[in-house]
Parts: sequence; structure tokens; C-alpha cells
Amino acid sequence: MSRSIRLIDVAPTMARVLGVKTPFIDGVPIDEVEGWECDRVVLAIVDSLGYGLYKALEPDLPKMRSMAKEGLLLKAECVAPSTTPAIASILTGLMPHNHGISNTRQASESEIRSFLEWANSEKVRSSVVMEEEGARTFEGFVSMVMGVPKSLGVRDFDREILTLSLASLGTDPRLLVAHFVGIDRIAHQGGGVDEIRDAASAVDGHLGDLAAAIPERTMIVVCGDHPLHAGKLKGVFDSKHVALIFWKKGND
Ligand SMILES: [Zn+2]
Repeated sequence: MSRSIRLIDVAPTMARVLGVKTPFIDGVPIDEVEGWECDRVVLAIVDSLGYGLYKALEPDLPKMRSMAKEGLLLKAECVAPSTTPAIASILTGLMPHNHGISNTRQASESEIRSFLEWANSEKVRSSVVMEEEGARTFEGFVSMVMGVPKSLGVRDFDREILTLSLASLGTDPRLLVAHFVGIDRIAHQGGGVDEIRDAASAVDGHLGDLAAAIPERTMIVVCGDHPLHAGKLKGVFDSKHVALIFWKKGND
């Protein structure tokens, strides 16, 4: 690896894939995916998918494993220990002290524009599927915003994220951002490694369904937001890095 990759590099990488102009930000595009010739991107944020956790569970995650094998698996430095600032960094390419977003209210009020908004201003059709409060912060900036109620149980929640993501693919977006939370929610509930593995395996299945539904020349980016930050497995697998997988449908 020529340099260390950080989560702030995801947004400029996706921007380059889609040919969207990038404002002045902290992150820089990841060269390894240069020349993949994709015209669409699906960004699947997998909450709490630390790098060490991913490696430990990899034998039970056939879809992610084959994406990593056919594509690229990177160990990316996380830039914030909790979800909202981490996702803000993933989507803006800015370090937390530069985007200043640490909760959903600040996300709504922030003047800082995310990758979705850069894309939207260049008429790139995008959709966002996430928990409804977070989703609301994108309304008015993104062509399609779909929210899932927090009140759903863990399995139903991620299944609904998948269902709405598949529905949004019907409108042929060039960019889809979906946020799966199962691993993180199980960790917060105090789940052990078996429960976490089950949650990860459900997400793996959802990623397989998404991969089956997208057109050729779509890049899937699977991205953890931070390592496990709650429950008894906090700090066990890793404390600083997340898994970052790039895969292109139609790789040959
Ligand atoms: Zn998170």
C-alpha cells in the first residue's frame, strides 16, 4: 500500500468515478480504483464493520468475501468513533473538526454540502436510504430520499433498507447510498460474537441481493463507519480501522 487510506477518501473517490467535481476537501481519491470504468455507484455503509471484525467474520460472509477477492479490500483509518460524525466524513470528505457535525440536528443545520449534493448539482440522479431522521437531512438536495423508522427490529430494519434500496434502483439512480445498522444495533444490545456474526451474515445477504439487482458497470463500495464502539466486543477486533471494499459488477 502506497499510502494509508482514510474514510475521508471515499467521497472524492466516488466523485471521480461519477465525473463529479469535488470542492476543496481533506480526502483524496483512492488510486487503486482508477480506470475501473464504472458509471454508477452504490455506497453501502455497514455500521460498525471494523476491519478486524470483517476479517474475523469473513469465512461466514461469502458475498463480501467474493467482492473483496474480485475487487479490492482496504484497511481504512476511521476518523470518528461514532456514527453521525463518521458518516458525515464519509459523505463530505472532511475531517470531523472541519465538518463540525456530531449529531443529526447539526447535520440538518449544516451549510456543508455532501457528496450527494455535489452530485445533485451536476444532475446526477441519486437516492439515499437510511434511518428516517438521518434521511430527512437530505430532503430537498437529493432526488430520492427514503427513510426507515428506527422503531423496527434489527432484522426488519435492515431488510427494509434493502427493500427500499431495490425499489429506488427502479428509478435508475447513478448513486445510491444505503446504511445497514444490524451489526451495530446487536453490539449495543450486548450481543456476543455469534449474534454479531448472524447480523453481519444478514447484511452480507442483502449486499448479494443489491449486487444482483444493479446494472453492469456499477461500483459497489462497502464501507464501515467505525469499529465496534459498544458492548462486550468493543476494542476486541480493532480500534482504529474499518473495512472498505470496492467491487465492480461485470469485472473480468
Ligand atoms: Zn455507526
